[in-house]
Amino acid sequence: MNPGARLVMLGKQGAGKGTQAVRLSRHYVVPHVATGDIFRAAVRSGSEFGHKARTYLDAGELVPDEIVIGMVREQLTHVEITHRGFILDGFPRTSQQAEALLGILEPKGLDLAINMKIDTDHVLKRLAARRVCSDCGANYSVVDNRPKVRGICDVCGGEVVQRDDDTESAIRRRLELYERETAPLIAWFEKRGLLANMDALGSPDEVTDRLVAEVDRRKQVL
Ligand code: ADP
Ligand code: ZN
Repeated sequence: MNPGARLVMLGKQGAGKGTQAVRLSRHYVVPHVATGDIFRAAVRSGSEFGHKARTYLDAGELVPDEIVIGMVREQLTHVEITHRGFILDGFPRTSQQAEALLGILEPKGLDLAINMKIDTDHVLKRLAARRVCSDCGANYSVVDNRPKVRGICDVCGGEVVQRDDDTESAIRRRLELYERETAPLIAWFEKRGLLANMDALGSPDEVTDRLVAEVDRRKQVL
């Protein structure tokens, strides 16, 4: 039987976190919980919550910790998620979120935090190439991960577009906040013996194989 997995995906914008998170969630047959996707769905729904979230997203600012933590706590306490595992994508992003996460996950804890490593040159290229389904949030790239039919989502048939926050100024702000708030979490996870540094370069298939091999290796050691 497939053992499931309890994983966190870390990495700079454009490292391919989202794409790999979806692939890992299929491989281990566990839910993919992506905070950015949840916020974008809220924006699309036109709810008051979505309206508030939008001001943060479009500017590339972080949504306040208490809002994000409450949302993730609710998602992760669903029985089916805690039972087999989950792939957390885009959370934690601040030290307060990381501390809260360990509390939420007690007593089982986490298997691994995967840090997708990439340099800034590659990041800017990937972000410029990034496209997303406006209905289901699936990720694409006009360079190496195009939808089968141009502009149409493989998964749901929705329209594939560029994200509203993939503008130059929002990208700059997100990278700045990544360095200031999120990069310190790499050492934080390492100190707890939970970090795997992984090279994010290569085709999507190559990277997935690399990540699965590492997760399986760690799970055997545990
Ligand atoms: P990216 O990694 O490319 O910035 P995401 O889809 O993960 O994209 O996040 C998009 C936006 O959603 C962020 O810029 C931020 O406004 C908000 N967001 C997502 N996750 C978090 C989080 N854990 N804490 C605060 N804000 C978040
Ligand atoms: Zn779609």
